[in-house]
Amino acid sequence: MSNEELDKLRRELDEVNEDLLDVINKRAKLVQQIGQIKQRQGMNRYDPVRERDMLDSIKEKNTGPFEHSTVEHIFKEIFKAGLELMEDDHRKALLVSRKRKPEDTIIDIKGETIGDGNPHFIMGPCSVESYDQVARVAKEVKDQGLTLLRGGAFKPRTSPYDFQGLGLEGLKILRRVADEYDLAVVSEIVNPADIETAVEYVDVIQIGARNMQNFELLKAAGSVNKPVLLKRGLAATISEFINAAEYIISKGNGDIILCERGIRTYEKATRNTLDISAVPILKQETHLPVMVDVTHSTGRRDLLLPTAKAAMAIGADGIMAEVHPDPAVALSDSAQQMDIEMFKNFMQELR
Ligand code: PEP
Ligand code: MN
Repeated sequence: MSNEELDKLRRELDEVNEDLLDVINKRAKLVQQIGQIKQRQGMNRYDPVRERDMLDSIKEKNTGPFEHSTVEHIFKEIFKAGLELMEDDHRKALLVSRKRKPEDTIIDIKGETIGDGNPHFIMGPCSVESYDQVARVAKEVKDQGLTLLRGGAFKPRTSPYDFQGLGLEGLKILRRVADEYDLAVVSEIVNPADIETAVEYVDVIQIGARNMQNFELLKAAGSVNKPVLLKRGLAATISEFINAAEYIISKGNGDIILCERGIRTYEKATRNTLDISAVPILKQETHLPVMVDVTHSTGRRDLLLPTAKAAMAIGADGIMAEVHPDPAVALSDSAQQMDIEMFKNFMQELR
């Protein structure tokens, strides 16, 4: 074969490549349109029956020289790329994503503007035990110039025989103390049916790690006009965490604070493993403020300060930690709560 002939065939091949490129991109645009319709109708993007029909009809028309199996393989790859494109378009559409809203979400809770670039602190006991216990911590929180007071009234405990919290009585104590000290209440709600009552008592609804994928609870919290602090699940990936936040915002409530609180790994030196890199990832992928709970992630009093420093250095919008007037006799998380002196030192070191 002369070089001239080879060049001619190569030019033809180049043209076919271009035609192929045009055709697969034309196909991709059709797939995108189908994806939009499916999304509007809440249909699954992947339809195995339809895919089988397409493959059968392609093979029927195949006259070679490619084998059926080769043709099937090539088309499966094209289908897969189309499906990924539909999924990318869908991901782009997430309401919590930065792609959707490039500006940071800033949440104002009694003048604390979380997400404004300054660190904010949520401090208080693990569980509400009594008026006195909460009031002693609240006084110190106020003295430190802080606003956000935490305390668990509904406690999701590993054992059903452990202290389960004071329930509604606990929320009433928190509200009373917070009003006396001019503070805002952050407290966990575990039951979707309690959300409506809770909004009367709390300033921030906390959704705990164990309930990160309690979709009914997420939807209930998304349906009220109250900021939500959403904690990362014990073994949740970042993508699952982001999707949990999407459940809330999809119901209309966009005031969501994400909270990294450590994940389950094989490491036993800490209660959980603080996934510190989740902070910048969440900040990049979403427009929501991101806080770090140093108490439940480490489970160790000696690690509260260094992990809080790390969280601030890496760009967290705030820190959550537990403070108890007498941790040794606390009804929950006695090993990792700070006492008042330690709390004062903690705040001094972070400023
Ligand atoms: C809490 O903050 O009180 C709590 C129970 O934390 P987590 O849901 O992260 O375990
Ligand atoms: Mn706790």
